[in-house]
Amino acid sequence: MEGESTESDGVVEATGPGDPRWWTLRRAQSFKPVSYACPLCSLQLHAMTDHVLLTPEGDSERRRHAHAACVRVARAKGRLPSRAEWEVTQPRAPGRLERLFGRSR
Ligand SMILES: [Zn+2]
Repeated sequence: MEGESTESDGVVEATGPGDPRWWTLRRAQSFKPVSYACPLCSLQLHAMTDHVLLTPEGDSERRRHAHAACVRVARAKGRLPSRAEWEVTQPRAPGRLERLFGRSR
């Protein structure tokens, strides 16, 4: 009973960080002499080029800089939905408004 730890070595087998359900996309361009790795093509992206700031679910700590062209391609394939686009894919909870209008489906 004493001094014996039955805990495993603390490695949590995560099934991934969880894909963001929606993204905030914002065009960005700066004159900072820095470059980023584009998360979509993993190539380098210079801050001075026209690019897009991807923020997963509004989490600014996880925002990434991506090539505008890569974002266009990804969006054309249905990836990187905006919040509004994601919301329309969600089943709607019966809300107050629906009841007000007397619609059940
Ligand atoms: Zn790219």
